Amino acid sequence: MGSKLKNFFEFLLNRSLFWKVGFIIAVCVITNFTLTFYFYSETLNLLSQAGISSYESFYFKRAIFFLTILIFIFLIWGAIAFWYMIKRPLDRIKNILDTLIYNPECLNAEGFFKFKIKDEIGDLAEKVNILVKNFSHLQTFRHLIENDENVEDVYERLGEHLKNLTFSSFVIYEVSNSQNTMKPVYVSDEELEINAEKLFNADRCRAKRTGKVVTSLDAPHVCKLYEYLDVTNHYCIPILSGNKVLGVVEIHLPATEVSLTAKKFREKLHLVHRYIDETAPVIESKRFAEALKEQTYRDPLTNLYNRRFLEGIIDNLVAQILRRGTGLGVLMCDLDYFKSINDKYGHDVGDLVLKETSQLLAGNVRKSDLVVRFGGEEFLVLLLDIKEGEAEKVAEKLRKAIELYEFKTPKGIIRRTISIGVSEFPQDTSAIWEAIKFADIALYKAKEAGRNKVMRFRKEFWTEEEY
Ligand code: GH3
Ligand code: MG
Ligand code: MG
Repeated sequence: MGSKLKNFFEFLLNRSLFWKVGFIIAVCVITNFTLTFYFYSETLNLLSQAGISSYESFYFKRAIFFLTILIFIFLIWGAIAFWYMIKRPLDRIKNILDTLIYNPECLNAEGFFKFKIKDEIGDLAEKVNILVKNFSHLQTFRHLIENDENVEDVYERLGEHLKNLTFSSFVIYEVSNSQNTMKPVYVSDEELEINAEKLFNADRCRAKRTGKVVTSLDAPHVCKLYEYLDVTNHYCIPILSGNKVLGVVEIHLPATEVSLTAKKFREKLHLVHRYIDETAPVIESKRFAEALKEQTYRDPLTNLYNRRFLEGIIDNLVAQILRRGTGLGVLMCDLDYFKSINDKYGHDVGDLVLKETSQLLAGNVRKSDLVVRFGGEEFLVLLLDIKEGEAEKVAEKLRKAIELYEFKTPKGIIRRTISIGVSEFPQDTSAIWEAIKFADIALYKAKEAGRNKVMRFRKEFWTEEEY
């Protein structure tokens, strides 16, 4: 009997709320009717034994009848109240959690629940609301940054989200671990002064060095570089991927308004951490992809752009030149008797000479000009927006710079010369690859003429049969 009862209660406990409350109401109703019926018949017996007529007991009967109806109404009201205030809100919360689990992309956080009830269920709904909202915002944020074109856009978006969380003063730094430097990539307020010390030595930044949150709310003078301590507190969060610090988010907090124990502020900080956690792997993968892309476009020895890069950008470059109505100077440069360096001093010295030559060439033209390693010891220099006739002068400057330069190698000082063929686009031809070919032909003529020379392309150099 005991175990049957136990089984029954276990069975009941595993039913839904609807059945549990239904059971309680059913027990109440049955008990109510049984007791009422029992006392009713017992009292009627007593009344008739006492000689009271059935007419006189009419009021008693009526009272019992109304009492029964009243209890019945209360029970029905209880059932409706249960359904409206408990069952329905719980079902809605359950449905939303179901969506969250099985179909998160269908979530639309804004106004998901509109509960006005301020009881425990209302609180629960509100908490679920916040959870869903944060989850949904984070998910949207992650989708957006994953699809952003480059890492700069990701920093921009993180900055905008921090602003939405009502942080008005902060800086996002990107850390270069190979150079131990950091640079500001998002500054909330143009007027914020940035301490230059840590930019050139990232280890000066405590958050970068330790990979931990550093805040003056814990210890006022924890960071020696923070300059606004009298006015604001700082809360610096490293952007971490594994043990590697990819960046630092430095938040400035009004000194009076915040405390780490304030619930609202803690919740806000918690969200910032969540956003940063979402951002870190995306930053890392985008930086990695960009570095990889750079690698395929750059020559590893000289770090100059390679031919593949040139092929990728040349149409765009030409379009710009034509739109601006200017010219492009094309210089094909080739070191003279370079092979003899390899033969005499070895390839390492040859590499060193190539490296320094590339630096000399890049250092003697404008930043906007393009120096490309075109072949082994051939460099193509594209001079942007140049006036007619000027390319030759720049070429002469480059030739002289190489001629005067002393390559300091482990095998002693080496001097070398360079030959340069010059053509101009669109003056010589309206096809850019033809202009490059013309510069190459002029270079060949410079070699023929004895090397260490600048040769301007002339029409008579170009005979189809010869080339
Ligand atoms: P010229 O005056 O006619 O240009 O003579 P040159 O010896 O410079 O011409 P050539 O084209 O015969 O030789 C180019 C040499 O450049 C051949 C090749 O071994 C060398 N070279 C090409 N790429 C590299 C490189 O990356 N490193 C080194 N060390 N040598 C290279
Ligand atoms: Mg050569
Ligand atoms: Mg060559």
